[in-house]
Amino acid sequence: MPELPEVETIARGLANAVVGKTIAKVEVSLPKIAVAPPGVSFVETLRGERVETVGRRGKFIVIGLGSGRRLTVHLRMTGRLIVQAPGVRKPYPYTHIRLAFTDRWGLCFADVRQFGRMRLLGAGEAWDADGGVEPLSEDFTSEAFVSMLDGRRTPIKTFLLDQRHISGVGNIYACEALWEAGIRPNRPAQKVTKPARRRLHGAIRDVLLRSIEARGTSVDDYVDAEGLKGGFQNQLSVYGRLGQPCNRCGRPIVRTVLAQRGTWWCRGCQK
Ligand SMILES: [Zn+2]
Repeated sequence: MPELPEVETIARGLANAVVGKTIAKVEVSLPKIAVAPPGVSFVETLRGERVETVGRRGKFIVIGLGSGRRLTVHLRMTGRLIVQAPGVRKPYPYTHIRLAFTDRWGLCFADVRQFGRMRLLGAGEAWDADGGVEPLSEDFTSEAFVSMLDGRRTPIKTFLLDQRHISGVGNIYACEALWEAGIRPNRPAQKVTKPARRRLHGAIRDVLLRSIEARGTSVDDYVDAEGLKGGFQNQLSVYGRLGQPCNRCGRPIVRTVLAQRGTWWCRGCQK
């Protein structure tokens, strides 16, 4: 599933490609993917709207429209947003929604497994992803993170994956940040020492920023809005590296299961 760096990369590419364009036509071939408020037509309401902004909140892409309405996109497992140049007639494979712009460019929302959603919010409708703090925002201070873990008995990795706490961190970056900070993934959050919490705070930001710089991690089938793969899979320290030597201590990376998620870590240097 795309996490913060991948969604940020897609949003930036999309902003370059579609901001300023006006929607001429909307085609929906799988209605469950296109969500709108009761009584509002997704297709009719979007027609004539101008794309003003493209941003990201947590793992959601947020498209701001001229009327003040917003369109949120959650890619979930296999969703893709692909920009198409004029003259490309054939929709991208597994396209369920296609926006055609007045300048004949197109935007396809494709999803093999159909868990993704494109949701039209009502004008002024309150919406805030899952509510967690943005880890790259000024609100995510070291001290705020240190106190977030107080009294939390849940394993630290499970805590990191909960979008109500921190928004946009998923399995890849939770594993990587815990390795970078030298913390065992199943350690109860409240038992992580204050210095280790500060290290982890820095590691979360560091790993996310480095991945954005590399345009995200392509495991499974992530590609950005231009259909390009990311490069951070070449810089992973633990995720998906079962049996390979730890870059820090040389012991083999292990894989365990925590809260039903594969968890890669090093028994040698994560305490
Ligand atoms: Zn190690």
